[in-house]
Amino acid sequence: MDASTEILAFVSGLMFLAFVFWALGNWWCLFRALIGKRKGSGLLIIPGLLGAIALLIAPSTNDIARWHSYWWIPLFADVGCVPWLIYYVWFSVKNRHRHEMRFFRHIIAEYVCTRRCGYEFSAVCVSLSPFHIIAAAVATIPLWIVSLCSPLNLSWYFLFGIFAGELLLAFLAGFLSSILMFPFTAVGETYCKNCRSRMVLVGRHFDPLGSKKPHWKDVFIFGVFIILNVALWIDLTTGKLWQ
Ligand SMILES: [Zn+2]
Repeated sequence: MDASTEILAFVSGLMFLAFVFWALGNWWCLFRALIGKRKGSGLLIIPGLLGAIALLIAPSTNDIARWHSYWWIPLFADVGCVPWLIYYVWFSVKNRHRHEMRFFRHIIAEYVCTRRCGYEFSAVCVSLSPFHIIAAAVATIPLWIVSLCSPLNLSWYFLFGIFAGELLLAFLAGFLSSILMFPFTAVGETYCKNCRSRMVLVGRHFDPLGSKKPHWKDVFIFGVFIILNVALWIDLTTGKLWQ
């Protein structure tokens, strides 16, 4: 067994463990929500994706490799993944009149000056919104059509895997963007514009109604998402990026 197989076995094992741990956590959150206890916030989508990827990449030396063909099960076994997405789409459609065309969701972090000079700063953080789900779905369709044809010849149900991959790409775009945008966003969160003393975080709140217009961060993340998809297509058509 060479070193790369050994690393792959270790990584897939670790990812699978993380999936089991977080998926159980999500079930626990759901249970607490159902019995009326405080709503815990689970980790959405990622645990199910980790489980699916772990099963897909596991080398034959790893014990979990014998479940290889059941890679899609974690996507459904984690309540925060496909079950939550189905609930989310259903809930959005049901309430579409109340939130007409509000495609963007933000978490707003409120900062105040430690010297109480009156200066306040609201930092907008982008959160998963219908816009991202629609963008991932739109990006999925051409990839899915290509995957059905030669030379890949995948089965139709890889649609779910490709959609999951596109959602992961949207998360990755958000993560990369937060690093790239850091120099532009950290200033107002750190120092008061009036007296230059430090700012303190007094709370975060989710804006459940959403926003009709994208924040500039939404636009930035969408740009990164498009770049990642272009890279994916270049790799798919030429096979040169990962060699
Ligand atoms: Zn101040």
